[in-house]
Amino acid sequence: MPELRKDPILGRWVIIATERAKRPSDFKPEPAPVSRGFCPFCEGNEDKTPPEIRAYRQPGSRGNGPDWRIRVVPNKFPALQIEGDLDNRGDGIYDMMNGIGAHEVIIETPKHEVSLTPLSDGHVAEVLEAYRERLMDLKKDPRLACGMIFKNVGTTAGASLEHTHSQLIVTPIVPKRVVEEMDGAKQFYNFRGRCIFCDMIKQELRSQTRIVVSSDHFVAFEPYAARFPFETWVLPKVHSSHFEDLTEPQRFDLAVVLKRTLGKIEKALQMPPYNYIIHSAPFIEPSMKHFHWHFEIIPRLTKMAGFEWGTGFYINPVPPEAAAQDLRDVR
Ligand SMILES: [Zn+2]
Ligand SMILES: [Zn+2]
Ligand SMILES: [Zn+2]
Repeated sequence: MPELRKDPILGRWVIIATERAKRPSDFKPEPAPVSRGFCPFCEGNEDKTPPEIRAYRQPGSRGNGPDWRIRVVPNKFPALQIEGDLDNRGDGIYDMMNGIGAHEVIIETPKHEVSLTPLSDGHVAEVLEAYRERLMDLKKDPRLACGMIFKNVGTTAGASLEHTHSQLIVTPIVPKRVVEEMDGAKQFYNFRGRCIFCDMIKQELRSQTRIVVSSDHFVAFEPYAARFPFETWVLPKVHSSHFEDLTEPQRFDLAVVLKRTLGKIEKALQMPPYNYIIHSAPFIEPSMKHFHWHFEIIPRLTKMAGFEWGTGFYINPVPPEAAAQDLRDVR
């Protein structure tokens, strides 16, 4: 059973993977290259993953067999496990609980694609629907507080398989980063009576300098204080705190905007490794007027070094305005 341990100074929780305990020699200086041979996520290899939790399949096809469009399976090496009690307890001055949660993999296509961008708009919309459905399902579990969808593309970004997929980790506590964003947004709301993300969207659309893509329902832009080169956020134009409240027209529009934005990043930077994450309000919160769900897309072009680790400052060598111009110029 993995353990969740709380840092008594910062209040940050760490997952200690007791069952995956590694020896010093397990850490290679360079990550192993992604295998280009056998792929457990390709159609026909369904028995090489844990049995599916949910699949979008052709009518009449059988579970854990071929003829699917999207499969959701438990992670074979989960960071958290779904069975058991939280058993929140103390250990002297320290706090800990059992590593309860969910860790799922969304396999986005039966074909061996390395990105979402070659998939049709309708297919990407269905991937977004898979995200939404899984969040709605796990939200029913009273032990679970917050769901986070994320995607790792490329070895440097943490992907161990290149076949395009996303992951969902649901935690029993609200992650510190989400708490910090909610607290910051709450302060602005208390002062101005408005959502800071909505205000940001309005200002960005007015000035246009950091806009990458804008559609009926969504906008992609480089944040004013971007931490990383080509860091890009995607937000719904109409205020919404929970990703799982995504409507059907929004879903199709988001598929188009996400594909266009990722396509521009892939073309401008020649298929860089990247992560994206969805920051959404916790399950345990009702609709919030001050928090606005969003994607953060982070191309992995720079490395965190001593200064960043020591200070929490980031050094971004590309001004977000220049990055936005480069991405807009990609045809
Ligand atoms: Zn594959
Ligand atoms: Zn808002
Ligand atoms: Zn965020």
